[in-house]
Amino acid sequence: IPTSRVDKLLSSMGYGSRSQIAQLAEAGGITLDAAGLRDVSKRISVTPDLPDRMEIDGEALDPIFGMVILLNKPVGLTCSHKDGGRLVYDILPERWKRRRPTISTIGRLDKQTSGLLLLTDNGDLLHRVTSPKHNVKKTYRAALARPLDGTEVDLFASGRLILQGEKRPLAPAELVLVSETEALLSITEGRYHQVRRMFAASGNHVEGLRRERLGRLALPDGIAPGQWKLLREDEISLIF
Ligand code: URA
Repeated sequence: IPTSRVDKLLSSMGYGSRSQIAQLAEAGGITLDAAGLRDVSKRISVTPDLPDRMEIDGEALDPIFGMVILLNKPVGLTCSHKDGGRLVYDILPERWKRRRPTISTIGRLDKQTSGLLLLTDNGDLLHRVTSPKHNVKKTYRAALARPLDGTEVDLFASGRLILQGEKRPLAPAELVLVSETEALLSITEGRYHQVRRMFAASGNHVEGLRRERLGRLALPDGIAPGQWKLLREDEISLIF
């Protein structure tokens, strides 16, 4: 079990500079096992149960490492760390922008796409979900500008569809028609604007796009656009 100085740990979790954390402790804002912790040079064991034992300004400490955040991404936010427009990171607590290791999105959704987006500080997990080797199935609900004619199902399933400007055909994808102008599309790859370009290749146009599933993990009903929650281990395991 790793140990860390309290000020160093909290600073890496984004709670402030080491001197700000010392001041907070002076003022009684940090407790460990319900007792005030004033000496921030103290070394403590960094165990996963620390959030149950430590409070910062009366709130449970954030999860230590390996957090997985499920966000229902609203339309209009960008999956980028660079400034310019509103970012998905702006929805999360401000201090999480300062956390190390960095919290990043697991893959990306376009600015105009909504729905299930995961973020994590766990580089191994990020790699496992996004690596082409693992073939995680991503399911999107698309609203189309023109009526579907049903030929799209075979076209997308063929394994022979080549997107404009590309050479390698797409892997087979599964299309389920929901109504004349709505469908569920499941893909295992993640090429640039893939879903929009697939429908463009079929002579249609995507007017609305929402990701609803990653593997067997579904966007929960109770999470409105712009809301997020931390995932438990059993929920994370539904991705694979
Ligand atoms: N395909 C797209 O075209 N856009 C997304 O955001 C995701 C998949």
